[in-house]
Amino acid sequence: VKKPGQTISKGHKNYELMLNLQLGIRYSVGKLASATQMRELRQGDFDPREKFWTRFPPEGSKITPPHQSVEFRWKDYCPMVFRHLRKLFAVDPADYMLAICGDDALRELSSPGKSGSLFYLTQDDRFIIKTVKKSEVKVLVRMLPNYYQHVCQYKGSLVTKFYGVHCIKPIGGQKVRFIVMGNLFCSKYRIHRRFDLKGSSHGRMIDRAEGDIDETTTLKDLDLNFVFRLQHYCFEELLDQIDRDCEFLEAEGIMDYSLLVGLHFCSDTLTPKTGKKSASEFQYEESGFEDMGQVLDDRRPLIRLGVNMPARAEQTRLRSGSDMYLSSWGGSTTPSKRGETYDVILNVGIIDILQDYDISKKLEHAYKSLQADPTSISAVDPKLYSKRFRDFIKRIFVEDR
Ligand code: ATP
Ligand code: CA
Ligand code: CA
Repeated sequence: VKKPGQTISKGHKNYELMLNLQLGIRYSVGKLASATQMRELRQGDFDPREKFWTRFPPEGSKITPPHQSVEFRWKDYCPMVFRHLRKLFAVDPADYMLAICGDDALRELSSPGKSGSLFYLTQDDRFIIKTVKKSEVKVLVRMLPNYYQHVCQYKGSLVTKFYGVHCIKPIGGQKVRFIVMGNLFCSKYRIHRRFDLKGSSHGRMIDRAEGDIDETTTLKDLDLNFVFRLQHYCFEELLDQIDRDCEFLEAEGIMDYSLLVGLHFCSDTLTPKTGKKSASEFQYEESGFEDMGQVLDDRRPLIRLGVNMPARAEQTRLRSGSDMYLSSWGGSTTPSKRGETYDVILNVGIIDILQDYDISKKLEHAYKSLQADPTSISAVDPKLYSKRFRDFIKRIFVEDR
């Protein structure tokens, strides 16, 4: 399987940035592991001022190793909290360091979002590093106490798992801020299709002129032509958890997040069960997937909410002409006409949760409202956003009876 992204080696324009990031992470994780014993969190650990600058001169210092690039400063935000979060999310410090700081450890993904953020993926696929805006760091640090509480309380929470927030400032250069998070698509089941779903329709279709759709293409709301049938217990748990996660995000004033869905088509159902083959895009003839029988027969013990959830994906036959799509989704939850059904494994999570409804989003709302139905555009206030998001989710996930 071809891995997505480009390995960053010497000569790459972000090579230095990557080296700095690796030096920084190694330093931060190493320092915490050796010096301080793990202790209970205190309120002060969440203090936004709880951040530490460290100087990395090329010749090295008492606490930093020598290195090849220009001098830079490194900042850790609330390191103690993230140490606890990594523990909570069962990330071993040594694995973490190795995954990020090993040789050839990072691949740069060709920027998947519109925001201009850079994305790096570790070779083992477990972690994603994303460069973020100052405002996003602010939002994260502000929500950190409640985020911490939320993920402690709900082990099955679908919101992004954050492992660290840092900043690099090369001498004479710009600050680069970034977050380390869990890769939602790190699964033993190969992901064949991925969707980034917001519940809004304006501009929510990929540009087909840009090339072939394949496993690494992130499809959007209007490209979705499935409903997902879930077993009763999975269905309830998922929808309840999405409700709780959305309530949390709404209370934090967040909007513009997405439900990221990864689909693995199980091998024995790669060709439709009913009738002739449908769109050529689903003709996965290759085999070599793991034995699905066991997973699908013996569901309960193997399932963790969010990853590797068995489901049946039913093609709705609603192709993405947007008007048809909207009117068809508007009414009933089940499409009147049953399409072809596939057994799938789902990976789902809520991502991009650091955007608050700030002045730029309010302006975007005002501006786009001139061209499109105001309720169809992504930028709406957090309350409306959450409602629309959940309404949409309730239409694409249905209970398998
Ligand atoms: P925009 O604000 O324009 O939506 P962005 O730069 O903030 O874009 P994200 O929405 O965070 O970017 O992510 C863009 C894409 O990157 C997602 O659609 C998804 O395909 C991938 N991605 C982001 N976060 C994760 C994650 N935690 N696990 C797996 N894939 C991810
Ligand atoms: Ca996004
Ligand atoms: Ca974003």
